[in-house]
Amino acid sequence: MKKLAVVAFGGNALLRSDQKGTIDEQEANAYQTSERLLMLIQNNYDLVLTHGNGPQVGNIILANTAGNKMYGIPDMPMDVSVAYSQGFIGYILEQQLRNVLKAHDLERDIITIITQVLVDKEDPAFQNPNKPVGPYYSKEEAEALISDTGAKYHEDPRGRGWRKVVASPRPLTILNQRSIEKLVRDHQIVIAVGGGGVPVFWVAENKLQGIDAVIDKDSASAALAVSINADKFFILTDVPKVCINYNTPMEKALDRISVKQARKYLAEGHFSEGSMEPKVKAAIYFVTHTGKDAIITSSNMLGVDNGGTRISIV
Ligand code: ADP
Ligand code: MG
Repeated sequence: MKKLAVVAFGGNALLRSDQKGTIDEQEANAYQTSERLLMLIQNNYDLVLTHGNGPQVGNIILANTAGNKMYGIPDMPMDVSVAYSQGFIGYILEQQLRNVLKAHDLERDIITIITQVLVDKEDPAFQNPNKPVGPYYSKEEAEALISDTGAKYHEDPRGRGWRKVVASPRPLTILNQRSIEKLVRDHQIVIAVGGGGVPVFWVAENKLQGIDAVIDKDSASAALAVSINADKFFILTDVPKVCINYNTPMEKALDRISVKQARKYLAEGHFSEGSMEPKVKAAIYFVTHTGKDAIITSSNMLGVDNGGTRISIV
């Protein structure tokens, strides 16, 4: 059996913060990102690709809001916006990866799976929604929205306005897991759990329903990697290595750490909440459940010897 890698792409892989989000930009980024995978493909890995959707889903929500205001198009809930982003990002990534494969005379089938991920309605995260999504509003607009919709809005710490916050519950089960596993074991490249997956829960015994929440992309990717028995888990972001004492004169890049060391650094607060912390936690989850290694690095370091930070069981 070929080896199986799950590769999670961060926000920058598809849309950088200094870009507008035009389709040309996203296609060019997706092409570059896809080129990074050649190393793994040429080394005979089966691949599942996952990706973030922050800027894209933000734009979808803005477009919804504007469409609603201007034309009365019904507003769509968060889960529908996540599904929408999985579809269009998957489309772009798939197409650009096809172009890259063609340019290198390689042949692989590629398929995007709109992925639903089961969460628990009783997850404590629902008591404390803290993940900002969508546009910024004035205080007055936010107050009106709070009383109209019952949703929560928080003031941005950097003074940019008020933003809706939703819960980030733990992923329990990847509902499309068996399909993903079958396809990837058939050597197809599968794009799945985009944006952490569409969060759904059982509202009644026979009724599955989407919920206004977002699942952390790294956490969902780790859950998928464990459930399909991946041999390697890559988390790609915009820094080549995980550091301790990050952004201080004592900063030190980590080449290789054990789960025990990773837990110690986590407890000491070396990894920022909402950025590096969820990645390290996702890596620990994968390593402890599989005994295999996880690597956190930037996409240009993918497959480079000693590139990135390797997290191992011991
Ligand atoms: P994503 O690529 O998934 O969008 P984020 O931007 O959320 O990822 O997280 C990556 C960022 O985490 C890096 O750009 C870096 O600035 C930041 N970061 C926080 N703590 C650390 C650390 N200890 N070592 C390295 N990077 C860190
Ligand atoms: Mg980022």
